[in-house]
Amino acid sequence: MTAKILDGNALAQKLRADFKTRAEALAARGTRPGLAVILVGEDAASQVYVRNKVNACAQAGFHSEKISYPPEVEAQVVLEKIAELNADPKIHGILVQLPLPKHFDSDAVLKAIAPAKDVDGFHAENVGALVQGQPRFIPCTPYGVMQFLADAGIDPKGKEAVILGRSNIVGKPMAMLLMQASATVTICHSQTRDLPFHTRRADILVAALGRARFVTAEMVKPGAVVIDVGINRLPDGKLCGDVDFGPVSEVASAITPVPGGVGPMTITMLLANTLEAAEREVA
Ligand code: NDP
Repeated sequence: MTAKILDGNALAQKLRADFKTRAEALAARGTRPGLAVILVGEDAASQVYVRNKVNACAQAGFHSEKISYPPEVEAQVVLEKIAELNADPKIHGILVQLPLPKHFDSDAVLKAIAPAKDVDGFHAENVGALVQGQPRFIPCTPYGVMQFLADAGIDPKGKEAVILGRSNIVGKPMAMLLMQASATVTICHSQTRDLPFHTRRADILVAALGRARFVTAEMVKPGAVVIDVGINRLPDGKLCGDVDFGPVSEVASAITPVPGGVGPMTITMLLANTLEAAEREVA
């Protein structure tokens, strides 16, 4: 079997065209969706992510603001800025790029964002709403994965879904979404015994470990849908996922590549959350 490649760039482009139309409709009513991105420090990867987010906003016709601070900035300064943005009617979404420098209490910073503007969906109030099945904002990466499944006509109902990784930003919300879509969900982590036993049962396998090419063909059930969230940099500078793409695509029925899979969808769903926040305000 040769897997269907689920193309994140193509799906992102399709969704972003729709977002642009919806943003124009809002702008015609006097509201332009607005995203504020706060960046603290000089981490090279974070700078690239923030630049990509701001560019994506511009292309979709959104207003965006990038607020940068040097690494030694006091937490209080950032908290005051968040309070200002919480009250700013031009801003519908606020995002603090993680990781923050060590002297920051990241939880306190994320908590300071008004839940109605928390487009990453990391605030405890939004996590709670997601768990209760009434999400206000769905964390962008798992939201993107669900879009892949919907676009490819893959209904999780009744399927065995196995997730590798239990982080707050990927594994846990992914499990909630797949469970709410009526899959039977197993979450694996570094203490899981006999990982291949679990992965080989999966009709839908989501890899979010951060371990280059960890998932081999022998770990995958023939015909499974394999979603690769991982982003790993190889010694030669190239990017690869958590899945051994070539051999696994001979076994799976559908697979996301890295790069060009989940990555472009994550930023796309950030736009979706910002747009939804603006639409809610106008409604
Ligand atoms: P974390 O490091 O927060 O979590 C990794 C998880 O994988 C943990 O739950 C850990 O288990 C588990 N794990 C690690 N090693 C093993 C192992 N050998 N066997 C089983 N489980 C293991 O990572 P994130 O969730 O933040 O990110 C995961 C990957 O996804 C990274 O590569 C990251 O770069 C990428 N990513 C990609 C995004 C995108 O847009 N495409 C967005 C976000 C992340 P334990 O809890 O026991 O430590």
